[in-house]
This record gives sequence, structure tokens and C-alpha cells, in this order.
Amino acid sequence: RAKAHGRGRAEVFDDALRAQLLAQAALERAIATGLGAGEFEVHYQPVVEVGSASIAGYEALVRWNRSGLGLVPPDEFIPVAESTRLICDLDRWVLGTATRQLAAWRAAAGGAADHVTVAVNLSGRHLTDRRVVDDVAAALAAAGLPADRLVLEVTETVLVDDPVAAEHLTALRGLGVSIAIDDFGTGYTSIGQLRSLPVDTLKIDRSFVASTEPGHDQLVALMIKAAHTFGLTVVAEGVEDVHQLGRLQEERCDHAQGWWFGRPLPADRAGELLVGPVATAG
Ligand code: C2E
Ligand code: MG
Ligand code: MG
Ligand code: MG
Repeated sequence: RAKAHGRGRAEVFDDALRAQLLAQAALERAIATGLGAGEFEVHYQPVVEVGSASIAGYEALVRWNRSGLGLVPPDEFIPVAESTRLICDLDRWVLGTATRQLAAWRAAAGGAADHVTVAVNLSGRHLTDRRVVDDVAAALAAAGLPADRLVLEVTETVLVDDPVAAEHLTALRGLGVSIAIDDFGTGYTSIGQLRSLPVDTLKIDRSFVASTEPGHDQLVALMIKAAHTFGLTVVAEGVEDVHQLGRLQEERCDHAQGWWFGRPLPADRAGELLVGPVATAG
């Protein structure tokens, strides 16, 4: 009886696991198909200068316009794509689209958007892929975008303890591209490590920026001070109200991003903010 019971439980577990694996495989196929069918699009969220409130750049954020299901947010498909090599295809597509888009805006603005940067999120899996440096160089060349207008965002976890990641970041910086640490404060990087990491920009995670917990204001101030000491530019993520902005101004934070300034926008509307109506890069 105990044996039968045990086997029954194993079967239930097997069934659940099998269903989960099948669902995952189906999602992977749908992502691959959707990528081929042009179902993905890039939205652009303004990154503004804290001092002047003018647009310093945009962060490119991928969306999946899945047939019949509407706009799917990245949290629902990036983790699945990251469990396979699909994430490299997806990130490469976003990189190509975003660099071409900024080049198109620059051309349309006739010099007035030359200072604007575009930030693209790079998965750890792509960062450690041996083709990543060639991929980035090829995207810049195809778009005709100067390397110093591109920012690559990577999370802390891939930065620490991975010699391949560090080597690739150094090579990418050698191209002239900037590197930002995304969601800083949520991983295990200490403020002291900022000195030795091959990065240019620190993005403070919105959980700190939006926090009302005692001590978090001082923590944000400390991160900004330390980053500046090490020569890094600081972006505060997830700024949702004017009180948060006021604090960041006091602490001399360089850039800020969040709903207070603007949500991620489809390319045509982001372009209008910069240069008036322009064509979007396909
Ligand atoms: P992230 O890179 O940290 O991007 C910031 C996220 O915060 C975005 O979510 C953005 O819409 C959201 N956000 C911005 N301002 C505010 C605010 O004021 N309040 C709140 N509550 N949220 C705000 P999104 O677009 O859903 O992207 C989620 C994550 O998915 C990104 O986090 C990034 O890690 C990943 N991701 C997005 N696009 C790509 C991509 O092309 N490639 C890869 N590998 N990952 C991507
Ligand atoms: Mg990011
Ligand atoms: Mg972030
Ligand atoms: Mg994130």
C-alpha cells in the first residue's frame, strides 16, 4: 500500500513536471516563431537629466505583441528565453532595432539629438557568449551609430565572479560603448567593488529610490556619493513622484528615469518627444 501510494505521488509529480516542461517548450517555440514573424517591438523610456529635466537618452525595453494575446511584458518571456539560446537572438534583435532607431532620430533631428544615448539590456547569457563583441560592433556599423551613443545594461550578478563577462565588458568598452550596472543594490555587489568593475554608469534599483523605509534615503545618497568618487554616472530608476526627484536633486544624482517623467513609449511617440513626427525603424 505504501509502495502504491509512493508511486502514485511520483506519477502526480511526473505529470506536473511534464506539463511544466511542455508549457515551457511551447513558449520557447512561440517566442522563436514570434521573432521571425515580427511580433516583438521595442518601447523607449526617457532617461532625463536631473538638473535640466531634458532627455539624455532612452532605455530600450522589449515587448511581445503576441498574436491574439496583446502586449506581453518582458517578465513573462525573458526568463524563458534566458533558459535557452533564444535570449541571444532576442537581445541581438533589440540591439539592432534600437541602434537603427536612434540613428534615424539623429538624422531626422539634424544635429539636435546628437547627445542622446540609447540603453539596451544585455542578458548574462549573451554577455558571456563569445560572439557578443562582434554582435555589438556589427549592430553599430549597420546602424551607422557612434559607439559612444550606446549603453549596455547588465545586472550585478553576471558582473561578479565571471572572468569571461569581465573580459567581454572590457572589449565592449574598447569599442567605445558604455556599460551600466542595472538594478544596483539588489545583488551582491558591494559599493567598494564599484571601483574595480569595468563599468561607467550605476543604475540604482527602484526599490531603493521608491522606498520609505528609514535609512534608505541615506543609502541612496551614499550610493550616489560612492559612484561619483569612482567616476561613475548615476541613474535613479523608478522615480514616480516629485518628492523622490527633490531628494535626487539634493544628492546631485545625474540622471533619472521613471513614471514621473514618462512611461516606456512606442518608437513613434518617443521620437516625437525628440524631433517631432518621424518614421520608425522597422
Ligand atoms: P529593467 O532593465 O530594470 O527596466 C526597468 C523596468 O522598470 C521596466 O520594466 C520599466 O517599464 C519599469 N519602470 C520604469 N519606470 C518605472 C516606475 O516609475 N515605476 C515602476 N513601478 N516601474 C518602472 P519592463 O519594461 O517590464 O522590463 C522589465 C525587465 O525586463 C527589465 O528591467 C529588464 O531586466 C528586462 N528586459 C526588458 N527588455 C529587455 C531586453 O531587450 N533584453 C533583456 N535581456 N532584458 C530585457
Ligand atoms: Mg535596464
Ligand atoms: Mg533596472
Ligand atoms: Mg530589471
